[in-house]
Amino acid sequence: MNILLLGSGGREHALAWKLAQSPSLKTLYAAPGNPGIAQHATLVDLDVTDHRAVVDFCLRHAIGLVVIGPEAPLVDGLADNLRVKGYPVFGPGKKAAQLEGSKGFTKDLCKRANIPTAGYERVHSKDGAIAALEDFGLPVVIKADGLAAGKGVIIAETRDEALKALDTMFSGAFGAAGEEVVLEEFMRGEEASFFALTDGSAILPFGSAQDHKRVGDGDTGPNTGGMGAYSPARVLTPELEAEVIEKIIRPTVDTLAAEGTPYTGVLYAGLMLTDEGPKLIEYNARFGDPECQVLMLRFDGDLVELLLAVAEGRLAEQGPVQLADRTALTVVMAAKGYPGTPEKGGAIGGIEAAEAGGARVFHAGTVGKDGKLVANGGRVLNVTASGSSVGEAQAAAYQAVDAIDFPSGFCRRDIGWREVEREGR
Ligand code: ATP
Repeated sequence: MNILLLGSGGREHALAWKLAQSPSLKTLYAAPGNPGIAQHATLVDLDVTDHRAVVDFCLRHAIGLVVIGPEAPLVDGLADNLRVKGYPVFGPGKKAAQLEGSKGFTKDLCKRANIPTAGYERVHSKDGAIAALEDFGLPVVIKADGLAAGKGVIIAETRDEALKALDTMFSGAFGAAGEEVVLEEFMRGEEASFFALTDGSAILPFGSAQDHKRVGDGDTGPNTGGMGAYSPARVLTPELEAEVIEKIIRPTVDTLAAEGTPYTGVLYAGLMLTDEGPKLIEYNARFGDPECQVLMLRFDGDLVELLLAVAEGRLAEQGPVQLADRTALTVVMAAKGYPGTPEKGGAIGGIEAAEAGGARVFHAGTVGKDGKLVANGGRVLNVTASGSSVGEAQAAAYQAVDAIDFPSGFCRRDIGWREVEREGR
């Protein structure tokens, strides 16, 4: 079968690597892709915001499955426009993708379906927000409603900070994403991510992970798209996973289906493990980046068959997702300046040497220039390895990192620290 994969990050390189291992794959096309994805796919020049062009490409290349990696095309309704023409798509339609596209939408759904989450209010003006602040203690969480690439969340410790945050939110800094703001009660606990495939009815767990959002060691500095991750997150015990499925995932899937907007794809639940049990922080409508890289390293099955079963509504026929019990860990190598303005054009070498020891290097922001590989974005490489413990996976990943020659890059040196500390006890 021919498959079209959309996206250009480390997530899509990991997906391409696994899709390419399936015996049912004939040709994998990727748009726009990157030099790592090009090892497994034919890259095509396709504007994913031009839905008609994507549909036309599928027709001309007999595409049997479209896999949409990032959130923007999902929220933009690309999956609907492909499904209408009969193409199986892995990824939700516009309405169901509102789970990621609108925080207010998700909070209202949680209320309707009785899903455990932080108390909240949706507000549409600064005055309304200031009045609503009275209903919350401190700290209070202030969020732009729409997609803001991880930058639209402020945790205000004082009332002054909250007022400042509201000033920023309603200043237009977040464009349409900030026209509505959600105020939330602050939840305490450890965070973990949980992934589940669904075709709108059946649900198959796809493992857990923990990521590292801050740019600096010891979880310091500004937030990023993610500087590293590992899977599984053992804090999410099998008992807690069962509770997450029963109280969070199942009611979400059933409510969306009952309301006529069934969800097809992967549900990525950001969770807070509180004293009162797991609570939903947020949903994403796609695999995480870099969480996907560690999930794919653990995945032992046929990814084409599985994603096609989701897209065609046949998930109930599939057995449990085969995930190795080993821990996978990924370290993001970023270009200096990230998450501000990253240095572009820095030379990258040593990937073969890094992979010689068994690690896998997924490309994110790389590009080929004059026959050489150079940096072309903030997050550049995802150096991924596995081990029988987080400590072992961490050691293997950093050994591979040290084999890479990327003078204008940097990475955190402590990915997995929380779990390594627990293992040492
Ligand atoms: P992401 O980059 O993960 O997609 P986002 O902008 O969609 O982020 P959220 O995931 O909702 O936003 O929030 C980002 C982070 O803020 C969370 O990972 C968590 O650390 C913190 N956070 C969000 N909501 C709460 C809450 N109610 N209580 C405590 N912390 C919270």
